[in-house]
Amino acid sequence: MAKMDKRGMLVIISGPSGSGKGTVVKELCKNSDYSLSVSMTTRAMRLGEVHGKDYFFCTEEEFVAKREAGELLEHAVFVGNLYGTSKAYVEEEIEKGKVVILEIDVEGALQVKEKFNDAVLIFLMPPTMIQLCHRLVNRNTENKLTIEQRLIRAKKEIKYIPEYDYLVINDEVINAAKKIETIASAEYLKPHRNESSIENFKGDEFDVASILLRAYE
Ligand code: 5GP
Repeated sequence: MAKMDKRGMLVIISGPSGSGKGTVVKELCKNSDYSLSVSMTTRAMRLGEVHGKDYFFCTEEEFVAKREAGELLEHAVFVGNLYGTSKAYVEEEIEKGKVVILEIDVEGALQVKEKFNDAVLIFLMPPTMIQLCHRLVNRNTENKLTIEQRLIRAKKEIKYIPEYDYLVINDEVINAAKKIETIASAEYLKPHRNESSIENFKGDEFDVASILLRAYE
């Protein structure tokens, strides 16, 4: 991906449970320019999930201790469980020039936007609400009550789409990932992410007479 300044960027991907965020993010992170921030959560581990890869699973006490120590960039309660993002990881990866992906809910996304006003907020949706419901039921990870709670939450989250910078419809994982890569590439071309190049263009050596002379050499 072409980029001029070394600093990376923060890309937030939100969307209701069942929108396919996890699969799209996995596809994106096959590219080594992208780095996924692994969150902390007090939610119970699902079958097949791995500590440190899907989440850092922790107790409520451990979560509160991190939050009180100021180590979380943002945090939220989602359907009765706590979720939060490590501040240190995000800052280090941005310094390394990575596109850091936060797969977080709306509440957390808006907190991050307050702190990093150049964060890019993307909302991911399946093509229809009925598909969202089917995906939630078919993935078989939650009971009926939790699915209902997550759908109620989805209805609330959708109201916040206008606060986001982009809406990506997840019709096919590969397409959705490509759209997000296109967004990131375009974001890297924004002037505020290329201040050193702009400085070069304005440099002292931009003297019309000497530049003309050099052109005709
Ligand atoms: P799940 O339990 O399905 O893995 O995640 C539930 C919701 O919590 C999803 O919308 C997910 O994006 C969000 N989430 C995951 N990690 C974080 C986090 O660190 N902070 C916030 N605010 N939300 C998160």
